[in-house]
Parts: sequence; C-alpha cells; structure tokens
Amino acid sequence: MANWENIPLQAQLQNKFAVPVVIDNDANMGALAEYKFGAGRGCDSLLYVTVSTGIGSGWIINGKPYNGFNGMAGEIGHIVVNPRGMPCACGKQGCLEAEACGPAIAKLAKLAIEMNPTEGRELLNCVNQSVQRLTAKHVNEAANMYDPLANAVLNGAGHFLGKGLAVALNLMNPQRIILGGGVAKSGDAWWQSVRETAREFTIPEIPVDIVPTELGDDAPLWGAIALAKLHL
Ligand SMILES: [Zn+2]
Repeated sequence: MANWENIPLQAQLQNKFAVPVVIDNDANMGALAEYKFGAGRGCDSLLYVTVSTGIGSGWIINGKPYNGFNGMAGEIGHIVVNPRGMPCACGKQGCLEAEACGPAIAKLAKLAIEMNPTEGRELLNCVNQSVQRLTAKHVNEAANMYDPLANAVLNGAGHFLGKGLAVALNLMNPQRIILGGGVAKSGDAWWQSVRETAREFTIPEIPVDIVPTELGDDAPLWGAIALAKLHL
C-alpha cells in the first residue's frame, strides 16, 4: 500500500507478540468472514464490497480468498463508471469510489444544493442549515423523509455502484455479492437502484444476487479470525 512499502509490518508484529502473524486488508477479510460465518455461507464464489469512506472489495473464488498477482485484486472502487465524472484520489475521473462512496455522496449533495438553492429542505434541516456538516448519513436520513434532492443523489450513487458491480458480475460470475460499510445501511431506494442497475448492465444468463452483510461492521474482524484459523 502507498507509503507502507518499506515497513515490514508483519515482521514487526511477529517480533512484538512472538506469535505467527498474517496480514490482509479489510475488504478481503470481509469476504472471508461472510463466506465462513455470514451471508456467503454455501457460496463458493462471492464478492464482498465495502461501501464506506472508500469502496473496496474482496473475492472468494472456488472457496478460497483470491488476492491476485500482487495482492491488488478487488480494486473495484477504481473502475471508471462515469468518464466525465468526479475527480478521484487515484488521479482518474469518474471512478466508482469518486461517485458512490460516503464522502462522494456528501460532496454530490453539497454540489446539488449549490446548484438548486431552493431544494433539499429536509436535508438542510438534518444539519441545521449548515451545508458543511453534511454527510452521507444525513443524505440517507433526508431520502427516507422523501427529500427529492437527497433521493436523487442517493439513487445516482446507487446507480453507479450497480454499474460497477455489473462489471464484476460479467467478468467473474460470482454466486452472490455482499455489500457492507456505512453506505450499505441506506434505505430501500438505494438498494433498489443498486440492484436494478446491476441487473440492467449484466448479461441475462448471469444471476444477480446482491444482499447486505450479515456480520455488519464486525465482518473484517471475523475475517481475521477465519484467516488465522486457515493458517493454523
Ligand atoms: Zn480512482
């Protein structure tokens, strides 16, 4: 990972605690956790996607974690879903992460309010009229109160997520996709937008089964337990 290249974290932890240490990222651990203990039990191929401050994913292929050639498999957040869209931290434009993660939803809502100052009343009430305080959670709250602007922003984010998931579905044909992270706690409208768009952009022969995490925010921790067990 950037800025961690020369830090032998595994060796350092191993020395410190005098036990064998294995290291992996939260999205891969979420995938393993849901496969072993959660919404992915019985699915030999699945994709776990965390939609949070960023968007990451982890694969289980044929019952095993799949990390790719150098551990970078699952960077679904940097699939370009909107070529003329928002700038991304990676330097590209319109990446899934830049269009659909939590901070992106907040940013898009702020822009929408700037462009339509008479709209987003419920949303502004959620933050006592202080636009700067706005987060994705507020956008979801306002959408649940049928605020049209909040609904449009959230549906847009769901749409782009669905597009990104369709790429993964067409490419790998997983049995199930499991969504975790704060944004996946959004209401029915967001879920419908994600599922409908994924279905629309995936070929008909491929089933589209997208469900919420069963293990919630603890999924990566359960994954760490599963990974330790795999190595013992
Ligand atoms: Zn990117």
